[in-house]
Amino acid sequence: MIDFAIYSICVLKDINTKNTSKYNKKLKLTAIYSILMTDDKKTILACFAHPDDEIGCIGTLVNHINKGDRIVLAWTTSGEMASHFNGMDFSEVKKIREEQGKEVGKIIGCESMFLGYGDTSVRATRESALKMAKFIAEIKPDAVITWSMSTRHPDHRGTANILYDAITYARIPKITEPLDPYRPPLHIPIFMYFEEISPLPTIYVDITENFEKVKDVAKMYGDFYGWKQVDEWLEVGRKSNGFKCGVTYAEKFNVLSRYLPIEKYLPISRE
Ligand SMILES: [Zn+2]
Repeated sequence: MIDFAIYSICVLKDINTKNTSKYNKKLKLTAIYSILMTDDKKTILACFAHPDDEIGCIGTLVNHINKGDRIVLAWTTSGEMASHFNGMDFSEVKKIREEQGKEVGKIIGCESMFLGYGDTSVRATRESALKMAKFIAEIKPDAVITWSMSTRHPDHRGTANILYDAITYARIPKITEPLDPYRPPLHIPIFMYFEEISPLPTIYVDITENFEKVKDVAKMYGDFYGWKQVDEWLEVGRKSNGFKCGVTYAEKFNVLSRYLPIEKYLPISRE
């Protein structure tokens, strides 16, 4: 169920075709329309700062995996600075946390990888964005899921900001070479973890069918770190989202996009 703003509605039939420039505009918009409306398999890049950050979108990822989409789950760091491991060597912590990330990939059935930015070093510099741009050009995602760009932890918002810059840089051949640049007709949408203060539209994703997988992933981390009442906070959080959109369990995101999928009708539901 979706409650995004109707700004995404694009009515193609009203475009005047009498002069050349407007005709070209129609051709371009028609191409965009056909790309967004095709039901082919998509690639989604879910990229966060530290292993366990991804718990907030597991239900959404499993929905897409079950649909046949390619999911790439990536972390900018290996979380080697985590307080839980005080006194332990960085390389040992890195090994443990990377194994946890890979385990998540196995639980939900997707690719997983670590990008090596260094825990507490994730900042939106030119160099960090160039590195991410090459990764984007390699993966060619249709959408990105990440942290909010205004969230508290510097690595979290750094990851989101780097991705935001990299999506544009990935369009530039001199940056992505020897890979081809990645130039989809529209900049790909970024779905960010929900923030109360965000001015961006909110979308809800119904994860009712796959809520058990969310619990499996959280349990893996919870057992290791000794988290308390894991099932309860998952239940309360996802159910609270579900109440707001009329399903049992939901995940919630803010979306940064020029256009969401173009529809002929307004997204109205009275169910
Ligand atoms: Zn984190």
